[in-house]
Amino acid sequence: MRPALSVIAPAVLAASLAAAAPAQAAPAAPQPKLVVVLSVDQFSADLFSQYRPLFTGGLKRMAQGVVFPSGYQSHAATETCPGHATILTGAHPAHSGIIANNWVDLGAARPDKTIYCAEDEAVPGATFRAYTPSTAHLLVPTLAERMKAANPAARVVAVAGKDRAAIMMAGRGADQMWFLDPFTKNRWRTLAGRTDGPESLRATAAYGAALARAERPAPLPAVCERVSRPVMLSPTASVGDTRFERKAGDVDAMRASPALDAATLALASDLTRTQGLGRDAVTDLLIVGLSATDYVGHRYGTEGSEMCIQLMALDMMLDHFFRSLDRAGLDYAVVLTADHGGHDTPERNRENAIPEAARIDARDWLAVLPENQRRRGDSFARGLGAILGKELSLPGPVIHAADLGDLYFDRGLTPAQLAAATPRAIALLRVHPQVGHVFTKAELAATPLATTPPELWTPIERARASFHPARSGDLVVLLKPRVTPIPEAGVGYIATHGSAWDYDRRVPILFWWKGAAGFEQPNSVQVVDIAPTLAPLVGVTIASGEVDGRCLDLVPGPASSCAR
Ligand code: ZN
Repeated sequence: MRPALSVIAPAVLAASLAAAAPAQAAPAAPQPKLVVVLSVDQFSADLFSQYRPLFTGGLKRMAQGVVFPSGYQSHAATETCPGHATILTGAHPAHSGIIANNWVDLGAARPDKTIYCAEDEAVPGATFRAYTPSTAHLLVPTLAERMKAANPAARVVAVAGKDRAAIMMAGRGADQMWFLDPFTKNRWRTLAGRTDGPESLRATAAYGAALARAERPAPLPAVCERVSRPVMLSPTASVGDTRFERKAGDVDAMRASPALDAATLALASDLTRTQGLGRDAVTDLLIVGLSATDYVGHRYGTEGSEMCIQLMALDMMLDHFFRSLDRAGLDYAVVLTADHGGHDTPERNRENAIPEAARIDARDWLAVLPENQRRRGDSFARGLGAILGKELSLPGPVIHAADLGDLYFDRGLTPAQLAAATPRAIALLRVHPQVGHVFTKAELAATPLATTPPELWTPIERARASFHPARSGDLVVLLKPRVTPIPEAGVGYIATHGSAWDYDRRVPILFWWKGAAGFEQPNSVQVVDIAPTLAPLVGVTIASGEVDGRCLDLVPGPASSCAR
C-alpha cells in the first residue's frame, strides 16, 4: 500500500523529485557551421496546420523545433518575388524594391515596359518574355551579402526551382547559384557570366532522364484518400483526384510534381558535399527554394490529392536530405518558411462551404478588347484604359499594367487629362463588385509603415509595405477576399495567391537544429524577422532599425540567440 503524500517527509520528496528529473543544462544558443534556409513556395500556414499531424519525416522534425505557426509575409502583393526577397533581407518590399513579380517602368529604355523582378532590362535585346536572370533590381543587401562582407571565407550556395527564388534569397552573395531554366524548363542554369560545373551538369542529366520517361500515376498515400475527390472546373475538366501521371517530355507537368523538389534537393546535397559546406570554422549558408508546391497549387489547387501527395513526398524528401547532412556529421541549423500562402480553386471552395468564392468577373472591361487580347496579365488594365479612353476622348492605351495590382497612367497624358482620368478610373474600379480597395500613389506615400502586429494591419498598411515610389503604380487595386484573379479555369493555372488577405499572407516559420530545446509561439511574427534572427548565428551584425524585422530569440529560458 502506498503512503499518503502527506506522510512523506519533505526531504524524501525533494530527493525523489531530483532523482526523477536531473538538473539539465540551460538551453543554449546554436552555433552552427552551416545554416540551411528552405523556402517552400506557397506553403501556407493553413497547409502546415492541416498536414502537421500527418508529417513523419523532415517536416515533422521541423515542427519539433522552434515553431512560429503564424508567420506573416505582411505586405499586400503576396507574390513569389517579393516573398523571397523578404526572407533573407529582413526588408519589406517597400525597402527591397521587389514590389511584385512584374511591374511596369514607363521610363525603361527598351520598347517593352513590363519588367520582370529578377531580370536586367538593360541587357541588349532583352524583353519581359526573353530576359536575362539578374540580381539588378534588389535594392537592399541579403544575409549572404552581409556574410561575404564580414568574412569572404564564408561559402554561400543557392539552389531553387525558380530563378527569382534563388536570386531574391541570395542576392549578389552566392558563390554558386542554380535554378531550373525558366524558358526550356529542362536544365539547371546560373547567372550570366558564370559557367556550368560538374554538379549542375549531373543535375541536368538526371532531370533530363526523368523528363524523358512517361510517369504513371503515383500511389495514393492512405492519408490522402480523404481529400482525393474530383471537382469539376468546366464541363470537361476536373482536378482533385489525379496523381501526377504525365507524358514523356511534359516539362510543365514535371515541374508541377514532386520531381522538381527531388531534383532541387539532390543538387543542393551534391553542392553541399563538393563545396565543403559546413566543414571549417567559418559558418556557411545553403539556400534552397523548393518550388514544386507552388506549381502544384496553381495547377491543381490546394485541397485535393495532388497537394496531399506533394506534401507527403516533400516530408519524405526533406527527411532524406536532413539525414544526409546528419550522416556527413555537419553541425547545421535550418529555417523553413514560405514566400506566400495560397488559396484553393474557387470551384472547390464553393463545394467546401465557401459559396462566395469566385473568379474575377471583368467581362465588361474585357469586352472592349479584341478577342486575342483578353487573356493577358494586363487585360483588365487595358480594358479599363480603353473604356476611359472612349469616355474621356483620351489617346493611346491610357493605362499600363503587368497585372491588376499596380496601374500606371500613360505618360502621354497631359496634366489636365490625368486629372480627369484619375478620379474616373477610381470610380470605375470602386463600382466593380469584386474590387475591395483602390489607393493612389499619394495616399500610399503618406501612409507610414505599420509597426503593429501584422494581423492588425489595415488594407492600406498592407499595400504600403508593398509600395515603392519609383516602381509602384499610380493606382493600387486590392480585390475583395476570396476573389481569384483568374477569369476562367482553363489549361494551366487555375488557382493562385497574391492577395492582401491572410490566406496568402500567413506562412509557417520553423527553426530546427540538433539539440534545440524548441518551443511553440502562436503569436504572429514576420518573415522579415528571419534575417535578423539568423544574423548572430552566421557572425553578422545587423544594427537595430537597419531592417524591418527584429531578432527572434530562439532559446527558451534566460539565454538568448540574439545577443552574441
Ligand atoms: Zn511563390
